[in-house]
Amino acid sequence: MKRYQLHIGGTSLDPTAGQWFETQNPYTGQTWAEIPKGDASDVERAVQAAHLALTEGPWAEMTATQRGLLLHRLGDLIARDARKLAETEVRDNGKLFAEMLGQVNYLPQWYYYYGGLADKIQGNVLPLDKKGYLAFTRNEPVGVVAAITPWNSPLMLATWKIAPALAAGCTVVIKPSEFTSASTLEFAKLFDEAGFPPGVFNVVTGFGKDVGASLVEHPLVRKISFTGSDTTGRLINEQAARHLKHTAMELGGKSPNIVFDDADLEQAVFGAISGIFAATGQTCIAGSRLLVQDSIYDEVVAKLLDIARTARMGDPMDADTQVGPVTTPPQYKKVLEYLDIARQDGATLLLGGRAADKPECGDGWFVEPTIFGDVTNNMRIAQEEIFGPVLSIIRFKDEAEAVAIANDVRFGLAAAVWTSDIGRAVRMSEKLQAGTVWVNTYRAVSFMAPFGGYKDSGLGRENGIDAIREFLQVKTVWINSGAVAG
Ligand code: NAD
Repeated sequence: MKRYQLHIGGTSLDPTAGQWFETQNPYTGQTWAEIPKGDASDVERAVQAAHLALTEGPWAEMTATQRGLLLHRLGDLIARDARKLAETEVRDNGKLFAEMLGQVNYLPQWYYYYGGLADKIQGNVLPLDKKGYLAFTRNEPVGVVAAITPWNSPLMLATWKIAPALAAGCTVVIKPSEFTSASTLEFAKLFDEAGFPPGVFNVVTGFGKDVGASLVEHPLVRKISFTGSDTTGRLINEQAARHLKHTAMELGGKSPNIVFDDADLEQAVFGAISGIFAATGQTCIAGSRLLVQDSIYDEVVAKLLDIARTARMGDPMDADTQVGPVTTPPQYKKVLEYLDIARQDGATLLLGGRAADKPECGDGWFVEPTIFGDVTNNMRIAQEEIFGPVLSIIRFKDEAEAVAIANDVRFGLAAAVWTSDIGRAVRMSEKLQAGTVWVNTYRAVSFMAPFGGYKDSGLGRENGIDAIREFLQVKTVWINSGAVAG
C-alpha cells in the first residue's frame, strides 16, 4: 500500500502528529493508499513556507515574465504525466478514465493561458484633479492563498485556482478533499521539477474541521478560494468575514436543462443524458432538472429511456463503461436516501431507483441511472442538490413558465436551452438566473470563459482574463514632483 507525505516548502514531509488515514477505490471499495492526516501545526508550517516565499527569495524577486515561464513549464509536465495523474484520480474518485484523461490533458492550457497573462496585467497612470503629483496604480499579489477543493474533479478545480493565483504572484497552500487527496500530492512533485522555488505551492491533506478550518483562521492567509458544498462555503465565508479575508466561492447547483418543442430532439436528449449521467451526476453543473415542453413530453421521455436503460456500468478504467460508481460512501448513502424521498413526494419512477447489484459493479458504490417523471418544482428532488445519477423531469407549457420554473430554485450555476428559434435563445439567455447559459449544448467549459454562480451557487468567477484580478490587490502610489508643500 502506498503511503503519501505532505508537500511543504518544496519537501515531502510526514505529518507532525505522525497520523495517516486510508483512502478507498470507489470501484472496489478497497483501501489503496494512506494519506497524511494533517493538523493545525502542519498548516502553520505550510503557511509560514508560503509566506516566506511570498515576501523574500527567488519568487518574490522574479519578474512576471519569469513566473509565466514557470507556469508554461508546469503545463508541459502535466501533459507528459497526464496518464499517470488521470489514473490516480480514477483510483480515488471512480470517474471514467476516458473522461479523466481528457480533463487532465486539457489542464496545461490553463497554465499556458495564465502564464501568458502574467506579464500583461498593467496598472494605470491616473489623470488627477490636482497639480504637482504623479499618481499610478500597481497590481500586487493579494497574499498567501488557501485553496480548498472537493472530491469530484480534484486537479481541474485546483487548477482553476492555482494557475491565476501563481500568475498573479501569490503563493498557495492547498487542502484537497479527504476523499481524493492523492492526485494533488502527486501533482505537487511537478512544481519542484518545473523549477518553482520552495514554498510557492504547498499541500496539506486532512479533514475540513482540522486543516480546512485552520487555514481559514490563519492570519497570514489573505484569500480563501473554495469549491465545495454551499453549507461548507457559508461556514467558511462567515469565518473569513470575521478576519476580513477575501473569499471566492464555487458552490452547488440544481441546473435546469430546458427542451422546447422546436429543438433538435436527438441532440437535446443526448445533452440531457450527458448532462446528468456524465461523472455519475457528480458535477456541480449537472443538468439535474430536465424541463420538457408539454407537447413533446412523451416523445422526449421515450427517447431518454431508450438510451438510459442501455447504460453500461462497471470498471471506470474500462473503455466500454459509461457510468461509474459514486465516489464516497456518505455520498452513496445520500443518493439512495433521495430515491426514497422522491417516491414519498409522489414522483413517478421511470428508470433505476436503486443501488446497482450487477456483477460488473463488483463491490463498488453503484447507483443505477435513475429518472423520475411528473416531478413538480416544489418536490425536494427538484430543489436540493443530490450530486448523483438522478434526473427529475418537469413539464412546462410555454416560455414564461419555463423561465419561472427554471429560476424558482436557490441555486444559479448553469442552465441550458434547446431550441431552433434564435429569438427564443436570446430571450431565454437573458432571463435565466445562472452564471453560465448554454444554447443547444451542455457542459462546455474553457479556460477563457468565466465560470461561477448566481444566487447560492457562489461568489466570484474563475477562468477568463478577469479571474487573475481575484488574486490581485490595487495599490495607488502618489509622488510629489516637488511643487506641493509637504
Ligand atoms: P464539501 O463542502 O463537503 O467539501 C469541500 C472541501 O471543504 C473539502 O476539502 C473539505 O474537507 C473542506 N471542508 C469541509 N469542512 C470545512 C471547514 N469547516 N472548513 C474548511 N474546509 C472544510 O464538498 P464536497 O462534498 O467535497 O464536494 C461536493 C460539492 O462541491 C457539491 O455541492 C458541488 O456542487 C460542489 N462543487 C462546486 C463546483 C463549482 O465550481 N461551483 C465544482 C465542483 C463541485
